[in-house]
Amino acid sequence: MKIYPKCLKGKQSYVSSEGHWLPCCWLPNFGEYYANSIFSQAEFDLTAHSIEEVVANDAFREFISTLVKDPERAPYTCKKHCRHETKSTSNDLNQKVSYE
Ligand code: SF4
Repeated sequence: MKIYPKCLKGKQSYVSSEGHWLPCCWLPNFGEYYANSIFSQAEFDLTAHSIEEVVANDAFREFISTLVKDPERAPYTCKKHCRHETKSTSNDLNQKVSYE
């Protein structure tokens, strides 16, 4: 299978009620994923970190790398919502995140 991450193609990111940043609004709405994910960790708390720091941290880079290079290990939400290719928009996170 292949994943076409909409979060790298202009989909707006999301901030939880606790102030944690996530790459999209689908992740926190899927079962228990959020509570057990990297996004509930302190590194994603926007009250303590800038958005630049959050998207540059190693955990997020690894998350994106998994989506692109090892999609079988991606969260079910990503497999469900981003299994089809979409067009890019001007809000292109792919230009801001290095995951090589
Ligand atoms: S579901 Fe996953 S791959 Fe799709 S936009 Fe959200 S974080 Fe990115």
